[in-house]
Amino acid sequence: MHDPLQPLHAGLDRIAEWEARWPVFETDPSLALSAETMTEALQALAVRLEDNYPFFHPLYAGQMLKPPLALARYAYTLTMGINPNNHALDGGPATARLETEAVAQLARMFGFDNHLGHLTSSGTIANLEALWIARELHPDMGIAASEDSHYTHGRMADVLRMPCTKVPTDDLGRMRLDSLEALLAGGQIGTVVVTAGTTSIGAVDPIDRILPLARAHGVRVHVDSAYGGFYRLLAEGDRPAIDPAPWQAIAECDSIVIDPHKHGLQPYGCGCVLFRDPTVGRFYQHDSPYTYFTSDELHLGEISLECSRAGAAAAALWTTLRALPLQAQSGFGAVLRQTRQAALDWAGRLADSDLFDLVVPPALDIVTFFPRLATKTASAVSDASDRIFAALEARPEQPVYLAKLQVRPSLLAARYPDLVWDQPTMTVLRSCLMKPEHRAYVPFLHEAVEQAARDVRDTVPA
Ligand SMILES: *Cc1c(COP(=O)(O)O)cnc(C)c1O
Repeated sequence: MHDPLQPLHAGLDRIAEWEARWPVFETDPSLALSAETMTEALQALAVRLEDNYPFFHPLYAGQMLKPPLALARYAYTLTMGINPNNHALDGGPATARLETEAVAQLARMFGFDNHLGHLTSSGTIANLEALWIARELHPDMGIAASEDSHYTHGRMADVLRMPCTKVPTDDLGRMRLDSLEALLAGGQIGTVVVTAGTTSIGAVDPIDRILPLARAHGVRVHVDSAYGGFYRLLAEGDRPAIDPAPWQAIAECDSIVIDPHKHGLQPYGCGCVLFRDPTVGRFYQHDSPYTYFTSDELHLGEISLECSRAGAAAAALWTTLRALPLQAQSGFGAVLRQTRQAALDWAGRLADSDLFDLVVPPALDIVTFFPRLATKTASAVSDASDRIFAALEARPEQPVYLAKLQVRPSLLAARYPDLVWDQPTMTVLRSCLMKPEHRAYVPFLHEAVEQAARDVRDTVPA
């Protein structure tokens, strides 16, 4: 019989051979759990884990959540048995090298010729690190980030005690150039944070136009592509699947954050920060008395804010990139072409539907829409969105899981002048089509939301 875990077992056998090079020893009785005890505990866990949405399934099309690639999981499992710590070379020589190689591949994808970079436990920590370098380089200045940038930039700027100014966004959710220009003219901004793929709707700031503006004012540019970064691969070729200009400009920016644990098929605990100028490593200097004694190389621990980090995370990413390289047509590119196509397909159906309106055409793979009602108030649309959301989850067979989003008038007023803003924001439906399998599910998802919209309309008091 075909055993899908066979590659994992073969890998574990190989690790067991390595361990067998050392003398056998007895596990202490305090740690020697019986098979029954472990089975009982794991069964109890499995029962508790049922309290989850089915993130693995294409019917889950809500938040940015999905399990890692099976290969990434196996690679993590293999390595976790050894449990190397990538805080320094002596914590895990093999996985430290794997991290260096995997990070170099990410840097190359963005077009960085030189780089200094490493993995982090998350996008938030990676951004914190980039903002910290921003502050060290411009100690008396603040940062600018769009209104739709990730909420943690404001929080991390607080931690760093540097001012964070929010720049308004246009009707596609992108940073407004006129507002940015006026702000930069004030001379108080040291670094602009641009977003390549906002968390809410996947908008990509006009990085190609922001960059020359920033340079003219001597301002640095940090790219937060925690969510969208891997889409860089689709900005290539004669007929790119996304607008290539902002993505190609990233090569000239100063730092980048990308989350392999979002679109990189990795388990959580895998963010990444990249700097174009390797000499920023000078800011990390420290002298810990009890690590870093086996090599003269610059250790990962000397270029990271964090100390202990899972070597297994680096191993999982390296192994994934070996099997699915960062290529435009195959490997990761082939995965993202499916998710991008799923979003275009669904957006097309929603645009043609009498029952819905699109919030914006999707720039990446996040689709946002709201029910088209006779009563065009923000409160009525919000109420109907809530009901559709609930009706989809309550379907007796094949429930559909979407997410919700609060949008401001600035995003919709130009395209939908009839909307009456009787409250500050409006609730709309949001779907992150992050799984390539979503592509085949789009017709089903669309029919389900149309059905839910009809049902809700029938029950709404006239
Ligand atoms: C998810 C996200 C973050 C935060 O990353 P975490 O890994 O969740 O800490 C930052 N910026 C953007 C654009 C994101 O989508």
